[in-house]
Amino acid sequence: MNDSEIVEKIHRLKKERNAVILAHNYQISEVQDIADYIGDSLGLSVTASKTDADVIIFCGVHFMAETASILSPDKIVLMPDINAGCPMADMITADALRSLKKEHQKAKVVSYVNTTAEVKAESDICCTSSNAVHVVESLKDIYEIIFVPDKYLGHYVSTKTNCKMIPWNGYCPSHVKILPEDILRQKKSYPEAKVIVHPECTQLADEALSTGGMYKYAKTSDASEIIVGTEIGMLYRLRKENPDKKFYPASERAVCPNMKLTTLEKILWSLEDMKYLVKVPRDIQVRAKRAVDKMIEIS
Ligand code: SF4
Repeated sequence: MNDSEIVEKIHRLKKERNAVILAHNYQISEVQDIADYIGDSLGLSVTASKTDADVIIFCGVHFMAETASILSPDKIVLMPDINAGCPMADMITADALRSLKKEHQKAKVVSYVNTTAEVKAESDICCTSSNAVHVVESLKDIYEIIFVPDKYLGHYVSTKTNCKMIPWNGYCPSHVKILPEDILRQKKSYPEAKVIVHPECTQLADEALSTGGMYKYAKTSDASEIIVGTEIGMLYRLRKENPDKKFYPASERAVCPNMKLTTLEKILWSLEDMKYLVKVPRDIQVRAKRAVDKMIEIS
């Protein structure tokens, strides 16, 4: 079967199943092209919860499909490749977080959406890279904040707020590959370019932005050349939607192998066999949703 035959079959089955296909910004180009919605993990889950689709095909990593299941417990959430995990989300477990909470009983827990459902269920509130500062500021009377799992995002937030942060020692293995020397080299090659980076790797940037923020910046700023410090899959969408502008990767090494596991064939098989189901158990779903809803409320 060639790609266009696969695409045709996907469209037919999608209709039969009343399914919606969501693709994260870091997915391969073919997957982005077939998606109904492209975006960041939370934006996609919120969008999916508002559709009348019965089935959500989540092309991303495991915690993202879990977030979709948390927000849409009555929908069927499927991942085309169940092995697509997030090493950063796996750097903290619910048990480890419970122990930390015992050590800091007055602290509130802010967890990045890049966490498992179980960790979200142990958290007071979630945050994304775009609203983390705002979320922490909303906890103004709180003395200590346990921030999990990304130490770089935690550090970024601590520079913008006055809270005492207890950061977890987690990190994104793809974003840490973006080094200051990479940005300096690209700046030398493209001296007129603006530099935008994801807060998971804040380095020598004009702006630290979430992927959603990068998307808006590319559309609205006057910059005609932009050096982009995030996973390289983001460049496909930026280039496609802004053909008059030039985008350069801060580092070609910033690749998330888990984000590249989903393919057109796997999406087709997922729709054919209704696999692989991601369903968050009810007791965890209810507690995790509370933390996600709290964030949505204050955003
Ligand atoms: S890019 Fe980093 S944070 Fe995102 S899924 Fe991959 S490892 Fe996880």
